[in-house]
Amino acid sequence: MGGQDNDAAGDAAFRDEIRSWLAANLTGEFAALVGKGGPGREHEFVPERIAWERRLGEGRWIGIGWPQQDGGRELSWQQQVIFHEEYARAGAPARVGHIGEQLLGPTLLMCGTPQQRARFLPGILTGTELWCQGYSEPEAGSDLAAVKTRAVLREGQWHIHGQKVWTSLAQFSDWCFVLARTDPGEQRHRGLSYLLVPMDQPGVDVRPIVQLTGTSEFNEVFFDDARAAEADVVGAPGDGWRVAMSTLAVERGVSTFGQQQGFAREFEAVLAQARANGGIADPDLAARLVDAWIGLRVLRYTAQATLGVPAGTTPGTEANIVKLLWAPWHQRLGELAVDVLGAAGTEVGPDYDLSDAQRLFLYTRSDTIYGGSNEIQRNVIAERLLGLPRG
Ligand SMILES: Cc1cc2nc3c(=O)[nH]c(=O)nc-3n(C[C@H](O)[C@H](O)[C@H](O)COP(=O)(O)OP(=O)(O)OC[C@H]3O[C@@H](n4cnc5c(N)ncnc54)[C@H](O)[C@@H]3O)c2cc1C
Repeated sequence: MGGQDNDAAGDAAFRDEIRSWLAANLTGEFAALVGKGGPGREHEFVPERIAWERRLGEGRWIGIGWPQQDGGRELSWQQQVIFHEEYARAGAPARVGHIGEQLLGPTLLMCGTPQQRARFLPGILTGTELWCQGYSEPEAGSDLAAVKTRAVLREGQWHIHGQKVWTSLAQFSDWCFVLARTDPGEQRHRGLSYLLVPMDQPGVDVRPIVQLTGTSEFNEVFFDDARAAEADVVGAPGDGWRVAMSTLAVERGVSTFGQQQGFAREFEAVLAQARANGGIADPDLAARLVDAWIGLRVLRYTAQATLGVPAGTTPGTEANIVKLLWAPWHQRLGELAVDVLGAAGTEVGPDYDLSDAQRLFLYTRSDTIYGGSNEIQRNVIAERLLGLPRG
């Protein structure tokens, strides 16, 4: 499943350039990273994957679609798709810098001041500063406007108190973009601010949460008089909701195609397993494998049709449709992966060591929750696309 058959002449050369770079760089200390860090395996080779971020930065493979004046390559949308496809095809490791690259960076390009762009974009582009997303709280997930974390401006600094939860990769991050209430007199969407908070300070306490997989991708983050510089608020103080929504609008853009390439690799592994252990002779498993293969095609064509937006614009409700399609598809693949294993799919080794299929199965339980649950995606489509009344 790849797009190389449709490449224009320049794009084919670009695809070759990426393949050559990856082949030359996924060697030596990075050779062991091939195929590492995928769903449910985020604990693998973390220091090495952080070093890999820097190598990607040296190759100028981070922020490739960003404007040249902000340090990007300003590549076409099609070329960005090619990069993500080739990255996944080579089995290059799961990114640990994606939150900065795919969420904060684009947000600063849209809403940041020139000073903020100059200060923060280079750290993302060079892979030297990692970011996490501080939105969700114990009582503010789907209902994000209910955030209670508060920040007060005193003597040139924001003083932050509160708790975030499910904060992916916070334990490895240098910075967190935090949605906090800065105007206690305002309710819901008003009076929130979008703060850029350094993680390495006494007022920040990160506690990893052990997940179903036995590993920890996400964390609780406690702010007890944590500080942020007065200038490190994106958008005007009190205008954080608009900025936060800008971030969500760019979540899952062009990288969807790389994600799908990763899905294809996972599917191939399930198919190979079914061939190896004879599971493919089972009519039910065979039918589900065919369905999974068809689903992959549907995902690709849908993404091509709906996410093919011109450079500089962001996908709207189309991204909600794509999420609603891929999340259940991926969950079904996880179920198929363990079913193909038969009884072996239920066994765990000493020290709770899981197979790749089991990790895939367990991790994909979360696909219909993060980035907005399936129910919320449906609400957005109903209200914004179909104009239906709020439930
Ligand atoms: C793997 C993973 C990584 C994550 N990473 C981050 C991160 O880095 N940063 C961050 O800020 N957050 C992160 N999250 C949190 C994620 O955004 C929230 O889990 C999600 O928004 C749902 O919020 P909740 O868990 O509080 O569930 P709730 O909002 O309490 O929802 C519970 C259930 O009720 C349903 N529901 C809620 N409201 C409605 C409604 N109006 N209509 C219909 N159904 C409704 C939901 O669909 C869900 O099934 C992550 C979550 C996961 C699973």
